[in-house]
Amino acid sequence: MKFRLAGFLSESITDGTGFRAVVFFQGCLRACPGCQNPQTHDPMGGSESTTEEMIEKILADPYLDGVTLSGGEPFFQPEPAAVIAEAVKAAGKNVWAFTGYTYEELQKGIEEGTHDDWARLLKSIDVLVDGPFLLAEKSLELKVRGSKNQRILKLEDGKIVGRLYLLKKKNGSQARAVFLSCERQSFQSFRTPSNSSSFCPASIKPRSSWTLSPFMRL
Ligand code: SF4
Repeated sequence: MKFRLAGFLSESITDGTGFRAVVFFQGCLRACPGCQNPQTHDPMGGSESTTEEMIEKILADPYLDGVTLSGGEPFFQPEPAAVIAEAVKAAGKNVWAFTGYTYEELQKGIEEGTHDDWARLLKSIDVLVDGPFLLAEKSLELKVRGSKNQRILKLEDGKIVGRLYLLKKKNGSQARAVFLSCERQSFQSFRTPSNSSSFCPASIKPRSSWTLSPFMRL
């Protein structure tokens, strides 16, 4: 399937967790002041690519943890984004996506029946970083996000099931990210969300001086 591509990174450690390929989709109509990627806005810009080419490149690297869908706006081209996401998931890897829409805006479009293809894409996303970049909320302290209004949401089957926290040592020497489930009962290692290595910070803190600090809220 053809689509407009703004760029491709074969290996990144800054667009999510672990080693990730990044597909930058061309096209975004939001025009956030201070946007870092204005060259991705024109829907007819970038270059033509195919989902087959992207999938082949991503799956050729056995060391990748997954793919990040970025832009531009991945939900501007939801069908090719979903095709890539579904192939990556089927290969046992995870999918992050950055969108200028809030999760609620995406849900509204789906419920009103105008964006069924958004529902398909959401179902293949493990982590959604949502919301527009707001210059007034910009912070260089943030991990992954550009502005404080943006949220890091853990999804399952298109539904929010958790939010991201950062565990870091009191001396600041190390950090690891974990997901807190919406039920506030279990934590899950960020890099291995599908295995059984869940752990409870209550049992970790007194033993190894890890502290829990939220860097996003739902
Ligand atoms: S949503 Fe993202 S790509 Fe689009 S204008 Fe805003 S910051 Fe730029």
